[in-house]
Amino acid sequence: MTKMLLPEGELFAPGITEDTQPFWDWTAQGELRVQRCGACGRFRFPPLPACRTCGSLEASWEPVEGMPRLYSWVIVHRSVSRDVPVPYCIAVAEFADEVHVVGNLLFDSDEITPRAGMALSVGFRELAGYFVPIFHLAGGRTDDDT
Ligand SMILES: [Zn+2]
Repeated sequence: MTKMLLPEGELFAPGITEDTQPFWDWTAQGELRVQRCGACGRFRFPPLPACRTCGSLEASWEPVEGMPRLYSWVIVHRSVSRDVPVPYCIAVAEFADEVHVVGNLLFDSDEITPRAGMALSVGFRELAGYFVPIFHLAGGRTDDDT
C-alpha cells in the first residue's frame, strides 16, 4: 500500500497576499473560486494583481465549473525535510474554460495509476489554518471512455 500523503504543519501554510486572500476565504467556505478578468473575461490561477492577457486590474471571483479532469501531476518521493512525509502528489486539475487549479492528489499508487484526463472529485482539508484543495481520482474514467 503506497498512499499519497498530505503535508502537515506550519511549514506548508500558504503565503497569503492581498491577491490570494480571497481564494482562501472561499475555500474556508468550501468553495473553489478563481479570479476572472473584469475586462477580457479570462480566468486566472494562481491569483494575480493584473490580467496576464490585457493588464486590467479589475477582477471578480467566480466558482469553477464543470467536472475536473487530471491535467498534470508530480509525485514527490524524496523529502525536502525529515519533517515532510513522502510520497505526496501535487496535481493540476482542469475545469471548464481551461481553468487550471493546483492541489494535492490523494490515491493509492498500488491500486491505481493516474492518467491524464481522469475524472477528479474535489474536497478541502485544513492545513495550518487554511483549507487546501484536495483531489481524488473519481473512478478512473477518462476522456477516452466517452
Ligand atoms: Zn483581461
